[in-house]
Amino acid sequence: MTAAFARGFRLHLSHGQVLDGAQYPNGWALVMDDPEWGLCSSARTIELLQAGYGGGRIEWADEAPAETGLPPTQPCTDPRHTGAIREQLGCSGPDPATT
Ligand SMILES: [Zn+2]
Repeated sequence: MTAAFARGFRLHLSHGQVLDGAQYPNGWALVMDDPEWGLCSSARTIELLQAGYGGGRIEWADEAPAETGLPPTQPCTDPRHTGAIREQLGCSGPDPATT
């Protein structure tokens, strides 16, 4: 199946630099490696592009976890928060009364 639109990704290089890129529906891929001038490098496939940078990890935009800006939810273990009140308080995790 061919994607209808370019697909965004980030190339994480081994020395820590992160480059924004896109893969086009025909497989051709590019990364912007000079943010100041906007110069890009491209290759026929994303694997060739990766190889040209000596490896690195591809992070696909559509596979990244949603960035909510909130810290990950911690389960509430307050022993006073049991039963129906947990829902009212918005507590997450298992009810301490049942564990
Ligand atoms: Zn709670």
